[in-house]
Amino acid sequence: TVQALFPQERRVVDEQGTSYTYEKLLLATGGTPRRLPFGGDDILYYRSLDDFRRLKALTEEKQRRYVVIGGGFIGSEVAAALAMNGQRVTIVISGEGICERIFPTDVVRFLNTYYQHKGVELVLNDEAVALDSKQDALALTLKSGRVLETDVVVAGIGINLNTGLAEDAGLKVDNGVVVDKYLRTSDPNIYAAGDIASYPDHTLGTRRRVEHEDNANVMGKAAGRLMAGDTEPYDHLPFFYSDMFDLGYEAVGELDSRMEIVSDWKEPYREGVLYYLRDGRMRGVLLWNVWGQVDAARKLIAESGPFKAEDLKGRIPEGSSK
Ligand code: NAP
Repeated sequence: TVQALFPQERRVVDEQGTSYTYEKLLLATGGTPRRLPFGGDDILYYRSLDDFRRLKALTEEKQRRYVVIGGGFIGSEVAAALAMNGQRVTIVISGEGICERIFPTDVVRFLNTYYQHKGVELVLNDEAVALDSKQDALALTLKSGRVLETDVVVAGIGINLNTGLAEDAGLKVDNGVVVDKYLRTSDPNIYAAGDIASYPDHTLGTRRRVEHEDNANVMGKAAGRLMAGDTEPYDHLPFFYSDMFDLGYEAVGELDSRMEIVSDWKEPYREGVLYYLRDGRMRGVLLWNVWGQVDAARKLIAESGPFKAEDLKGRIPEGSSK
């Protein structure tokens, strides 16, 4: 593990005290799961392959009770996966429902009901405050005073960015390590990519940070090319995806439930496209059970607009007429 970075000397030092010099350096240190201030190793944070194996092994032995804390990506996906594997699942969400930061209220409501129909108990507007282990079980106390008795607790409550090295080295850090369109940090010999990189998004015309797979993959390769002498700026608009039971989607751009959202359902909550607008500009597109349209969504986001709700019906899938 690298412990210190000395940009002037182009040198890093690991925890053994070994120094490595470099010509170009890439910081791709990602994030560390946020942990609750209680529960220790009794709470599974579902980050590593070992975490996956541990959870899978538990589900294969017998039916158990699971509490999932957090209604974001990990919470929604793990709760669904556990229920699909015949486990008894309760999900504790501090807000109003599943993925409420990205979906409009009606979709969140639909998802809440959908999870309930699939046998998941939802506890909304509540938070875990303590975990005690009893003989064969765990007792999770919530802020409301309610106590959930369970066998396993899984938490997905976001990540803290691993930007300590960059900060200590004096690189510019502001909601992530600040990079330019060539993925260079404030020190031109040091690059950053992935979750930690705050980069200028060419299409959206804004600086942003993305914590999803496609961004990590594509930006990582781009950083490698740029470090090896390529001169093409990074201009990829990443997509992300998720599956919850038999519901699946792909999404491009910024999805923020506070934006103006135009829903174009072919079949409500089963198949359709949601357009996320701010000040008449297209900021993001949610392709709900609509496949092969990521590039069409990118093209639409790149258009200057302004867009009005009535212009958007049937825009995607391309060539559809409704
Ligand atoms: P996340 O998607 O950021 O969701 C964290 C959720 O936990 C948020 O809803 C947050 O609510 C809530 N939360 C925060 N503190 C809490 C607390 N003390 N008690 C209860 N809830 C709390 O993060 P994640 O689900 O942990 O995922 C970790 C990382 O992996 C993220 O970067 C995520 O993007 C990535 N990931 C992505 C995918 C995908 O792309 N499909 C799948 C899995 C994981 P507030 O928003 O109200 O704070």
